Amino acid sequence: MGLDLFFYPEEFEGPFVVLGKGETRYDKRFHQFISCMIVLDSNLNLVRLFPIDMERFSTFKEFDFVKVRIEKRNYESHRPETRKIYPSTIRYSKETFHFTLPFETGEVLHDGNWKKMHRSVALINPRELRIRQKWNEYTRIQYFCDFEGCNGHTNKLDAYTFEQVAALERENTAIGFVLGTHAGYPHRWLLVSAIRAEN
Ligand SMILES: [Zn+2]
Repeated sequence: MGLDLFFYPEEFEGPFVVLGKGETRYDKRFHQFISCMIVLDSNLNLVRLFPIDMERFSTFKEFDFVKVRIEKRNYESHRPETRKIYPSTIRYSKETFHFTLPFETGEVLHDGNWKKMHRSVALINPRELRIRQKWNEYTRIQYFCDFEGCNGHTNKLDAYTFEQVAALERENTAIGFVLGTHAGYPHRWLLVSAIRAEN
């Protein structure tokens, strides 16, 4: 057995696979524009790395392997998958691992258990995408997950994520959605990233 999500030591450095980058926003706690990354560890746990200085680290993209020093495991009680990192220690990793993306059914978005479990990251296969409505720098999309009785989910995408969706659709590739809950509204799922469903 490897290291468990909640028990790996704070000096654990990865490697992690990048699955998505959150939207960059001004954070009063850090007095700068920062983001987060959703990554996968070698036990296929989804983890949020925070804070990421996107100006310096915009080069990292989906499916890159990175290493980073963890400063704190339990940084956000409402988003337990968050790991506070030492931002300057993030780097590409030569060490890699084989992985299968840990997709789950859309039930996670419907059954309410994720609230009780304080889940704040998820990886799903959208069954159908609809509505692309542009407004300002965002595009609103609606998607249906594979949960029977799903009435659709609506999210706004920034230009980067929308381009990810558009590129995968052009290639006619199966799409995976990396979801994360909002820092300020932990009962709301955001679409963090659209990735190739097969790695
Ligand atoms: Zn659904």
